Amino acid sequence: MENGKLLIFSAPSGSGKTTIVKHLLKHNPQLGFSISACTRPKREKLEEHGRDYYFLSREEFIEKINNNEFVEYEEVYPGCYYGTLKSEINRLWNEGKHVVFDVDVKGGLNIKKQYGSRALAIFVKVPSMEILEKRLRERKSETEESIKARLYKVKFEMAFENKFDVTLINDSLEESLKEAQKIVDRFINS
Ligand code: ADP
Ligand code: 5GP
Repeated sequence: MENGKLLIFSAPSGSGKTTIVKHLLKHNPQLGFSISACTRPKREKLEEHGRDYYFLSREEFIEKINNNEFVEYEEVYPGCYYGTLKSEINRLWNEGKHVVFDVDVKGGLNIKKQYGSRALAIFVKVPSMEILEKRLRERKSETEESIKARLYKVKFEMAFENKFDVTLINDSLEESLKEAQKIVDRFINS
């Protein structure tokens, strides 16, 4: 697709990116999700290989780095690599879709830098650290160690907000979903 665009959702873990992105994908058939590769273990019962992520071994991930298959990749948490595959953007553009990303803040800015005005970088922000921690714990998807690693990174990640094109505050979910839809409509029709 010649006029295919990129919508990048980034934020600290627990901010609500996945919730917002899933809602947008459900209601906008012209959008497609960039399935990242990662080396963390799959959340059993919640996630599927090839739907949420391509779950790879460390060796498989390194092979893809060496073959230059990534637009960007990061060691988002110690020992856990995540990356956006070039083939995903091409797959979705070939299907005539705009591409939606759920990536960490550094990855998001990296994609924005490469695609410029074709991309919109959206920072999802939770009203406070306390609320973020509560949401992360209530999701019940992480071990205590993984929660700690995620919270440890939050302050660092928050510092990148002003480098994004737009901030979306995720307080009331209903309002956030409406706002996210407006942001998407405005950008796609611009
Ligand atoms: P992320 O993808 O950024 O890590 P999630 O979308 O998994 O975040 O959201 C973290 C948790 O918070 C999930 O359990 C989700 O259902 C919940 N959540 C998301 N947005 C809101 C909101 N506005 N109010 C209350 N809970 C929310
Ligand atoms: P989770 O393990 O909660 O699914 O994701 C952890 C973090 O990795 C989130 O901030 C998520 O957005 C980020 N992430 C997911 N895919 C990618 C990717 O392809 N590249 C980068 N840089 N970060 C990613």
